[in-house]
Amino acid sequence: MGYAKNLLIEQMLGISKSQVTCEHCGKTYLQEVTDQVPGFRDLDYDICPYCHEINGSSRSEEYYNYKID
Ligand SMILES: [Zn+2]
Repeated sequence: MGYAKNLLIEQMLGISKSQVTCEHCGKTYLQEVTDQVPGFRDLDYDICPYCHEINGSSRSEEYYNYKID
């Protein structure tokens, strides 16, 4: 799949991507955030993929963090 098509699917799913710098180790990682399913909300943590420390948490959003190669 091409980049443009991926981007379209991500917009439909309500995924937002950003780069986040870890407060603990200072490394930058790629973060995808999606809305949690209403009625099945749970506390989700923003965990650094490098040092596994917690940089935040949310009851309305889910975090998917990736290392940047
Ligand atoms: Zn870290």
